[in-house]
This record gives sequence, C-alpha cells and structure tokens, in this order.
Amino acid sequence: MSELHVAEVTRTAWLTPGMVRVTFGGEGLRGFRTTGVGDEFVRVHFPSSDGVLHLPTIDEDGVWHYPEGVDDHVEPYTIRRHDEATGEVDIDLVVHGHGRAGAWASAAVQGDRVAFGDPRGLYRPPSGAIEQVFVTDATGLPALARLSEQLPPGIRAVAAVEVAEESHRMPVGDGSLAVRWIVGRGNGVGPSAITEALRALPITDDCYVWVAGEAGELRAARRYLRHERGLSADRYAVIGYWRDRQEEWLERYEGLDDDTVASLQAIWQSADDDEVRRDRYDEHLARLGL
Ligand SMILES: Cc1cc2nc3c(=O)[nH]c(=O)nc-3n(C[C@H](O)[C@H](O)[C@H](O)COP(=O)(O)OP(=O)(O)OC[C@H]3O[C@@H](n4cnc5c(N)ncnc54)[C@H](O)[C@@H]3O)c2cc1C
Repeated sequence: MSELHVAEVTRTAWLTPGMVRVTFGGEGLRGFRTTGVGDEFVRVHFPSSDGVLHLPTIDEDGVWHYPEGVDDHVEPYTIRRHDEATGEVDIDLVVHGHGRAGAWASAAVQGDRVAFGDPRGLYRPPSGAIEQVFVTDATGLPALARLSEQLPPGIRAVAAVEVAEESHRMPVGDGSLAVRWIVGRGNGVGPSAITEALRALPITDDCYVWVAGEAGELRAARRYLRHERGLSADRYAVIGYWRDRQEEWLERYEGLDDDTVASLQAIWQSADDDEVRRDRYDEHLARLGL
C-alpha cells in the first residue's frame, strides 16, 4: 500500500455555487508524485464526525483498520492541479447537499487536514486516436478541465456536461473545446442525460470516449458504446464516479446472501477480459435489482 500523505488546507475558493476548490500544502505533500494523467485521482480520508483526522493502519493483506469507534469517510477525488515545485495540490469538490465530503469542503479553513495515497489515472487513449469525446456530470468537471488542458495538439475534442443549475457552468479548457452544457439534469436533481448526450455526439473510428458520472446511469452509456456502437474496450473509458442514493444501494447489497455475493465475486476472478467481466457483473446486478 502506498504511503498516506497528510495534506493541510492552505486556502479555499468557490468556483461556482456548486463547487469549491480546496488547495492543500504542507510537509506531508513533499513525497506526493503525480502520474501526469489528467484524470488521476486519490482516495481522500476525511476527518471523522468528531472533526479529528484518524489515520488507519494497514495490515499485510492491504486492508485498512481504523481505531475503534471511528466513522471513517473515504472518497475518491481528482487531482485538479499539482505543483511540482511547491507540492501544492488542488481538489475541486461538488457541494451537492448530502455528503460529508462536500460539507467538509464548504466549511474547510486553513490548517484543516485530510490524507490521501498515491494517485492513479484511468484515461488511456490508444495511439492514433485523433478525436476525443468527453461526457460527464459535475463530478467529472475537474478531470475534464485538466484533461482538456493536457490534450496534445491536433486532437479534435468535444464535450457534453450536465450540471444541476445554470450557475454551475464554468470555463473548461482554453476555449478551443466545444462544450455542450445540459442544465437541470443528472447530479441528483433529475434523470441523467449522459447517454442521450453520447448518442448525439459524433463517434468515429478514430475516437476515444471518456465518460464519468452516476454509476447506475453509466450502465446504459457503456452498453451503447460497447454493444450498439461496437467500440473495442481500448476506445472508451466509462467510469462510475458516484452512486445515487448510495445508502439504500449499499443496504440492499449488504442484505444479499453469501451465495449471491460469492457468485458476484467469482465473476471478477474469471479468465474473461475486464469488459466481459463488467458485462456479466452489471447483468447480474441488474437481475438482483441493484
Ligand atoms: C475516479 C473518481 C474521481 C472523482 N473526482 C471527483 C472530483 O474531482 N470532484 C467531485 O466533486 N467528485 C469526484 N468524484 C465523485 C465523489 O467521490 C462522489 O461524489 C462522492 O460520493 C462524494 O462523497 P460525499 O461524502 O460528498 O457523499 P457520500 O457520503 O458518498 O454520499 C452521500 C449521499 O450523497 C449522494 N451523492 C454523492 N455524490 C453526489 C453528487 N455528486 N451529486 C449528487 N448526490 C451525490 C449519494 O448518492 C448519497 O446518497 C470522483 C469519483 C471517482 C470514482
């Protein structure tokens, strides 16, 4: 397991009424190294509800253990910016009104602390992809902004972004990226338009498609790309960033009997490639109403 870097808030800034940027610094970030991949993310350990940041220990199987009674909260977040010279890191958090991470960010002040491990990127366009399609909701805006800033010259890119409110739109990229904004859909305020948006965008043989958003909605998006459009697995990345009514979903998942859980887990141990396993896993979950 990678080392956990303790990061201290140095400042915060509201980017829109729905998103706050938290800038971190401090000694703990000295050893932090970026992968350079535009959608790289870390698992952020937030303080527990007593306001204290309790760090876990790790056992030989790589499992984290928190001190007894600690209600740990760990969520993945994109590294929006890393300054190699100063070690500073920006993370942009959606404040959606339900979660602990967003509430923490909107109240964060200088000196508050979180911890995170080393980053991992998922954006992997194949060589030869000269067109880029991005579709996301607000949670993917930090990654989209960084990915578009890092696009190599000569790549044609288009994006569709759904946001809860008009005021949640923000500048993305250097102005050369054509962004279609979809207001009032997804983001927990309405049915997502991600799959509709994908259907309306030009997807060619030279394209790489990056999609992020609510995990349930993304099943349809992935089916469209893989089964209707017949894209090979290296031509797209469809990444579930959050789950609507996660508490209910988890409660139902945790209520599954042992045999069902074992049959779900067995899918990931099969010799099939990742995309086939994902297909089978999604189908099985859908049959279970999850
Ligand atoms: C690779 C990756 C990168 C990510 N990068 C970012 C990022 O840069 N910025 C960012 O804001 N998010 C990002 N996310 C999404 C973020 O991790 C989730 O939204 C997370 O659930 C937020 O935690 P929370 O404590 O606010 O809410 P939780 O405690 O996880 O959830 C509480 C309730 O809030 C609901 N909820 C969670 N997220 C949202 C949302 N966005 N809109 C509406 N309702 C929601 C849940 O359904 C649940 O009912 C990323 C996720 C992944 C997988």
